Amino acid sequence: MSSQEFKQAPHKLLVIPGPIEVGDDVLLANAHPSMSHMSPDFIPVLGDCIRMVRKVLFAPDAQPVITAGSGTLGWDHVAANVIEPGEDALVLNSGYFGDSFAECLETYGAKVDQLKAPIGSKPSLAEVEAKLKSKKYKVVTFTHVDTSTAVLSDAKGLGEVVKRVSPESILVLDGVCSVGSEEIRMQDWGIDVVLTASQKGLGCPPGLVILAASPKAIKAFEARKTRPNSYYGSWQKWLPVMKAYEAGTGAYFGTPPTNLIYALHQSLTTMTTQSPSLEERFKQHVAASDRVKNFIQGLGLEQLVADGIKDGAHGMTAVKYPTGLKAPDVLPKMVAKNVVLAPGLHKEVKDTYFRIGHMGVTVVNDKERGDLDHLLKSLKEVLADAGHAPAQQ
Ligand SMILES: *Cc1c(COP(=O)(O)O)cnc(C)c1O
Repeated sequence: MSSQEFKQAPHKLLVIPGPIEVGDDVLLANAHPSMSHMSPDFIPVLGDCIRMVRKVLFAPDAQPVITAGSGTLGWDHVAANVIEPGEDALVLNSGYFGDSFAECLETYGAKVDQLKAPIGSKPSLAEVEAKLKSKKYKVVTFTHVDTSTAVLSDAKGLGEVVKRVSPESILVLDGVCSVGSEEIRMQDWGIDVVLTASQKGLGCPPGLVILAASPKAIKAFEARKTRPNSYYGSWQKWLPVMKAYEAGTGAYFGTPPTNLIYALHQSLTTMTTQSPSLEERFKQHVAASDRVKNFIQGLGLEQLVADGIKDGAHGMTAVKYPTGLKAPDVLPKMVAKNVVLAPGLHKEVKDTYFRIGHMGVTVVNDKERGDLDHLLKSLKEVLADAGHAPAQQ
């Protein structure tokens, strides 16, 4: 069956910050006949994925690792390979996912300090600089887009600060909610590890962890005095396997989810070789984000990020319920209009807001799909039915 012939079943529009809508081409690729993971037909498919991850991250010298798992496993990879028990890590916390990364690092024995920002914001570059001057950190992590708040961190700025103030530190970017929807110039910006998952900006079904490590991060791994304190997540196991797939020979450690690799291959091929270009794709996410955020403001609603258009993520928006309304007034009513939104997630305020995802095909193919029109029109109707009269319309 060609991708022109395949159409997925009619379904509710999934506009949460992951999993996101998956294109017909990617779903069809996922329906590939079952393959041996050591087949000469499959080996170059994973090899290509490894090469294309470098392109998406503008990281020609990075070593990608792609395995079964989810974004969470990316934290385990960092905690088990890049830092050793008793060493210091600094977690720049802009919401829920900073708490979790810190917990993961501690699980593997790292000593974690956190720089926490008020809900809806992020630690400032000046605060980060002061913290880095006060103590040497082996690893510094930040959440590029905190999916609980829609705060966008300044990845480039953090790269500059670390390079200037603490050049030995390994800078880790949690890109689970940003790879594919936000520009990331891993090499130019001095980011040492980028970790992500298949089901958000990369537009695939869930089930893969995808990360890339700079030569500096690999060197830190190789200089470990203790062995990695994870078995499945050990780079001792995975780096030779990734190199073998890239070289076209293949090697075995833990069966890769072959069908998902076909899906990822389709998605990455589209992103790296077809129109729109990566640069154009990021611009389209900015434009879609501006549109959603302007619409929200036009309805008289506030975001968790005070100035969401200037400071917020481009693949999602976190919106406060208007006074008097709660989740049951909005989310099930949206489902009745075939639109699935996400509830709040940040534990201190989760009942006060909801989240909209606008990533991947919903943005890039919106002209033919009309996802954003449907989403915004439905939201306006639901709020009006619930008695919310916008201040100015
Ligand atoms: C979704 C998400 C994760 C966790 O990824 P899973 O695939 O759910 O394990 C981690 N960090 C961020 C920023 C996320 O958005």
